[in-house]
Parts: sequence; structure tokens; C-alpha cells
Amino acid sequence: MTIDHSAVSATLTAAKLWVIGVNATPGKDSARNQPYLAVALFSLPTVFSDQVRRMTVDRHWRLYVNPEWVAAKPVPVVGRELAHLLWHLLADHSGRAASVGVSQPTSAVWTAAADAAIADVIDVTGLRPRRLTDANKLGLPYDGTLEEHFAALMPRREALELRARKFDCGSGADGIDRDHELAPDAGTPPLSRLAASALRRQVAIEFRTHSRGDGRGGAARWATTILDPTTAWESLLANAVRRAVTTVSGRGDYTYRRPSRRSTIAQGVILPGQHRPVPQLAVVVDTSASVNDTLLGRALGEVDSLIMSLGLGEPGVTLISVDTVAHVTRRVRRVRDAAVAGAGGTDMRVGIGAALEQKPRPEVVVVFTDGYTPWPDAPPSGVSVVVALLGAHGQSLPPTPDWVSRVECRADR
Ligand SMILES: [Zn+2]
Repeated sequence: MTIDHSAVSATLTAAKLWVIGVNATPGKDSARNQPYLAVALFSLPTVFSDQVRRMTVDRHWRLYVNPEWVAAKPVPVVGRELAHLLWHLLADHSGRAASVGVSQPTSAVWTAAADAAIADVIDVTGLRPRRLTDANKLGLPYDGTLEEHFAALMPRREALELRARKFDCGSGADGIDRDHELAPDAGTPPLSRLAASALRRQVAIEFRTHSRGDGRGGAARWATTILDPTTAWESLLANAVRRAVTTVSGRGDYTYRRPSRRSTIAQGVILPGQHRPVPQLAVVVDTSASVNDTLLGRALGEVDSLIMSLGLGEPGVTLISVDTVAHVTRRVRRVRDAAVAGAGGTDMRVGIGAALEQKPRPEVVVVFTDGYTPWPDAPPSGVSVVVALLGAHGQSLPPTPDWVSRVECRADR
């Protein structure tokens, strides 16, 4: 049988419109009203592949479609399958699989657990494909997390492996690359991690708008995890700075300056004469016009409290205000009052560079910025860099180098 690919594309589009509730035709299988999924459904790069049975997704948000399967199925069946696969991506099942160590031997268990979690989210919308077993049928608690489902299903691994051979969802569900999947840089371009996280946020925001604050159900819980991370950024920032300071001053669990300090400690008591150097701290503040002043004030206030509590106020810290040039103020006791206003764009290479030129050279550099700046190519040696990324509520924030400790600080709604 020859498959008309443009007809298959048309069916896929019709299925997406069916999911979001456009072109509704009355009847038993009438369109589902899930408009908030539109932006994500229409962003999936699509690859036709005879190597998948139905449809799968990879962890780069590419959708693999068997054209014969789509051609043979009614629009609602394709739509349900699309919605289910999209939820693997929205809920970051591949990233979460990696963080609990899912590998080839346990991937079938993970995918079954993920499918059960999805079934509970989409059941209320009528979007559940019939083959998707919900948590109840698997004997799992309705409100359990995916990670809990995974642990609970582990004893049933063999049976679930048989299921996985029949119903594959792709690496987008379990993070394990498949033979039929394209390399990240080959063929149909994937979605970048940044684009994916921006899409998640957009879907979550549109879900909230669409549901008019109805906080019930799995989709609402998901939107909350995306839009309202429960941990306050103040404590995350304080922890990151404290960790950096204790690491360089040798009070932490790990130190690169004095690897054998334990030898000078007898029975947990620090011996007399023990010298504890006060670490040199530099604070680099992005004073470009795009930074939210109120938020910056709060973030600097947090660091001021830490400077006090860690005893760093006596030598003072070096404050560097930077837009496109760096203004250095030395021996500052309260950074909150000392930052000078700047204008225009930002170049953090200039700011961090100026910090590293100070004598004595700082061991901890705390950077406050909105992130719209170039960064140094390589990590500065022997220096811990903490970046407090300042942004609006619900905004997706720019990437930072992987050698910094990143803390996202968001303004209240
Ligand atoms: Zn699935």
C-alpha cells in the first residue's frame, strides 16, 4: 500500500485540532476542549518512520510517526495518542528517569509507571487512549508520584517488559535512546532544552488561564510544579553562598585548599591555634536597565544577612557594579546600599574579570544578573561562582554556564 504523506500530515493536524477543541463535530467522539495544549502540539518536530508501530517521542521532543498507522486510524484515536505522548514531554519523564537512574533493564517498569501517571492526568479530559492502564488498574494509589509508582511496580518487571515490546513510547518517556531515533544533531532539528522549558511554562500559564484557577486534577498539580516551585529562592541562595564559603574556608565536607584538615581535629574538637582564614568574597551586580530593582534589593539583602552571619563583614567584600563596564567599590559592609545604577546592556565577562583582578583575589564570587549577558568561556580556577538569576514570576530564565551554582530568584506575582 502506498501512503500519501500529505494525507497523513493532514490527519495529524486534524488530530491536534481535535485535541484542542477546534473543528468540533458533534457525537460520541466530539472534540476535546484542551486549547492550552495547542502551542506544544504544534511545536513537535515530526519524523515519519516505518520503524515505530504507532507513534513515539524522543527526549528532544521529536515525534516519530508510522504513516500507515495514522492513515488507518480515526482522528480521535490519533489525537489521544498524541496527547498521551505530549504529556511524557510536558512532565519531563525522560529527565526524571535519568535522575532516578532508570536504565535499559528497568525502562519498561518506568514507562508503565509513567503511562499510569499520564492516564490519571488525562482521564478526566476523555483523552486517555484505551490501551493506557491507569494507576487504579495497576493497584497503585491515585495520588502517587511517578517515582512512587516506579518503585511499587518493580516486582512486576517481567510482565511489564512484555507490555513494553507492544507499546513503546520512545526515549521521551524513559530517557533511553532507541535505534529508530535520530541523533540530536541529525535530520529534523530537535527542540533545545531551553525551548522545551519555555514551552512547558507557556502551556502551564495557558492551562491556568483556561481553567480559571480550578486547582483540581493532575494537570493543575503539574502546572503548579512548573509555575510555583515550592522552595523559596531566598533559602536556596543562602545555601548556595554558604556552601561556597564553607568549601573554600575548609569548614565544609570538601575542600580543595586544605585536603587533610581532619588530621588537626582531635575527637571533634578544634585544637588551639587553629587558624581559620576568612574567605574573600566579591559581589558582582548587573546594574543594566533590564534588572528588576526591587528584586535585586531583596537578593542583595539576603547576601548582606549572610555576610553578617558568616563574619565576612570585618574585612568587607568587594562590590562590582557592571553594565558594559565595571565599577569597583572595595571594603563594602553592606552591598545593598552600595550598588550604583547603570544603564544599557551587560557583559558579565567584564564583571567577573574585574572581580578576579582584585588583590587579594576573591575565592567566592556571587553574581546578580537577569542572565542576558555573555559569560566567560572557562571556569575561573580556584573560585566558586554563585549566580543569582533575577526574573519575573513565570518567566523562563536564560541558560548559565555549567560551572556556576545557579539559583533562580523570582519576583512575586
Ligand atoms: Zn506512554
